[in-house]
Amino acid sequence: MTQILNADLHCHSVVSDGTLTPEALAERAKSNGVELWALTDHDEIGGQHRAAAAAKTQGIKYLTGTEISITFLGKTVHIVGLGFDADNEVLKAGLRSTRGGRKERAMEMSDGLAKVGIKGAYDGALQFVGNPELISRTHFARFLVEAGVCKDTSEVFRKYLIEGKPGFVPHRWATLKDAVGWITQAGGMAVVAHPARYGFTANEEYALFTEFKGHGGRGVEVVTGSHSAAEYVTYAETAKEFGLAASRGSDFHSPDESHTELGTLPYLPGGLTPVWELLADRIV
Ligand code: AMP
Ligand code: MN
Ligand code: MN
Ligand code: MN
Repeated sequence: MTQILNADLHCHSVVSDGTLTPEALAERAKSNGVELWALTDHDEIGGQHRAAAAAKTQGIKYLTGTEISITFLGKTVHIVGLGFDADNEVLKAGLRSTRGGRKERAMEMSDGLAKVGIKGAYDGALQFVGNPELISRTHFARFLVEAGVCKDTSEVFRKYLIEGKPGFVPHRWATLKDAVGWITQAGGMAVVAHPARYGFTANEEYALFTEFKGHGGRGVEVVTGSHSAAEYVTYAETAKEFGLAASRGSDFHSPDESHTELGTLPYLPGGLTPVWELLADRIV
């Protein structure tokens, strides 16, 4: 497969914090011209068999996927896994363990919001949750919009859910080593998700990519809904500098919220090794 491929290897369903089912996403991917798709729910692979079956029904190629939250240098970083065995027990157990802290965190978030006069946020957020093990900030954001506290989810994040705001609760996710290890031992490829989003200094980012490679990580998202056109260029250079394969994905969550539609990003820039070239034998 060439670099000129409409691959969308990053999106979310109701199995994490998206609003569409895996089947509806597959249909949407097909109508948007996606040729190779991966569903990458946060910390969860429970939707993988449904997604692969739906891709087959739609006649599009599929790679298994997930997006694991980790803590690195005090910040939350996301590691995408692609092309692993979705029945791998070590990967499933690792993801289960990292999902474990979400309920307590959500209850603390709710307490923080109650202190500024927003009552019942835990129960409110739960109404938006498709997977009880995966309550996330996104579900709180949807509840606060429905309750009329903010006009959209970005405003909720800005005012309530980011560091320093009343609904933010610092949380220790998995380690970089664990996340890369779980994915790799399951036959998959670990990929640094949307690197421009973290606000790392050049030295911190160097440490991230160096340690990531050291643990067996092999890819980086270059073209993503979270990057500007200038950042495609920056991270194409990073891919070359660190000898990483390049990925492409919208990070689509919902028709009402996402600014990047499935399958509508520019192609990968030339001179890179696409992740799908190295994962050819994992595509179904
Ligand atoms: P959590 O894993 O519970 O910390 O929630 C993180 C999720 O919140 C991400 O996967 C995004 O879907 C969403 N998110 C993070 N920052 C923002 C933002 N500024 N605006 C809207 N959604 C966001
Ligand atoms: Mn999300
Ligand atoms: Mn992410
Ligand atoms: Mn994502």
